[in-house]
Amino acid sequence: AKAEARGSFRFFEPEMDARLQARRLLERDLREAVTAESFELHYQPIYDLNAERVCGFEALLRWNHPERGRISPAEFIPLAEELGLIIPLGEWVMRRACQEASRWPDGLKVAVNVSAVQFTSARLIGAVRDALAVSGLPGRRLELEITESVLVANPGTTTAMLHSLKGLGARVSMDDFGTGYSSLSYLRSFPFDKIKIDQSFVRDLGQADDSGFIVRAVIGLGASLGMTTTAEGVETEAQLARLRGEGCDEVQGYLFSRPVPSSEIPGLLRRWNGE
Ligand code: C2E
Ligand code: CA
Ligand code: CA
Ligand code: CA
Repeated sequence: AKAEARGSFRFFEPEMDARLQARRLLERDLREAVTAESFELHYQPIYDLNAERVCGFEALLRWNHPERGRISPAEFIPLAEELGLIIPLGEWVMRRACQEASRWPDGLKVAVNVSAVQFTSARLIGAVRDALAVSGLPGRRLELEITESVLVANPGTTTAMLHSLKGLGARVSMDDFGTGYSSLSYLRSFPFDKIKIDQSFVRDLGQADDSGFIVRAVIGLGASLGMTTTAEGVETEAQLARLRGEGCDEVQGYLFSRPVPSSEIPGLLRRWNGE
């Protein structure tokens, strides 16, 4: 058995090396990319079902790797968090999103994702204040999306931070709602302006035994707490019809548009808002 174990060890070793090597290369490239700011933001429209028009865009980070092509944020954001790079990267996102949004027609909002590491950093407030000041974007046109996992870690600090952000005029949204551990009633203790219903609940709307009751409960709770509800990942007319019927306020998904580069925003607004 000993010989076998040693054999398998020798067998796996080069493979482990290759994976470690690949990770080190990705680390190196990510560090360089952060320094060189070689990222781009794409924007996905958020459609207001009451006003029947696009009311804003969510900024989504894109990294075009020189050899590997486009790498998903789901892959490089956790790495950036681990390496402490999410702070400079997140600040770049904040500045760029505010700057680009300041050129959109007035009233359109920009939603920016804030990672848990950023949210618990003492630098966040200053970074948001600077991004608003430099771009001239009014705070009321900025939304900050924070995932549920942040709440559970430290409820007291979370509430204080949310109030500070709102003090700058920004709105705060609970992202990916329903995927974490917090209960519906837990949400009441935090001053969120918006709940984003995770796409996993939207996906199976209209199918047998669907999660419609969850979607209904979240929309009902949002309404009673005075929070806007936004459904993510809307891909079909059937899902849209269900969400309308339940009184959802806003929708976002491939049915309307994929995230697009900034240059495509004017065309998109002409199409949806006639402006
Ligand atoms: P998220 O914040 O939940 O963003 C929504 C994701 O769903 C985006 O993926 C978007 O492209 C995708 N999506 C939109 N509509 C649909 C649809 O109809 N169907 C499906 N299947 N997907 C749809 P993306 O751009 O790959 O981003 C993945 C995640 O990476 C984001 O999830 C967010 O957690 C994170 N992320 C992206 N940009 C940033 C950023 O600037 N900062 C931070 N901290 N995180 C970011
Ligand atoms: Ca988001
Ligand atoms: Ca989300
Ligand atoms: Ca997500």
